[in-house]
Amino acid sequence: MQKRLKKETGKISKIQPVRTCIVCRRQFVKEKLQRYVWNFDTENVVLDSRQNMAGRGAYCCMDEKCEQMFLTGRQRWKRAFRLN
Ligand SMILES: [Zn+2]
Repeated sequence: MQKRLKKETGKISKIQPVRTCIVCRRQFVKEKLQRYVWNFDTENVVLDSRQNMAGRGAYCCMDEKCEQMFLTGRQRWKRAFRLN
């Protein structure tokens, strides 16, 4: 327990987690990305606006082109959510 507390304090906590947009492959901090989660019931992607939904998520940046390509690219989802 004590060791764990030590690790979480210090410089490391200031580094922001970075995710990759699955369309353009650019990297952004999480807040700059939209998270999508696969919904098995509706077989569609759901926007996870709070970024806390369960399941495998995929990140897409807020560039309009990326968003469109992501939402229309059903082939892409298979890879992003490992549906096969
Ligand atoms: Zn992008």
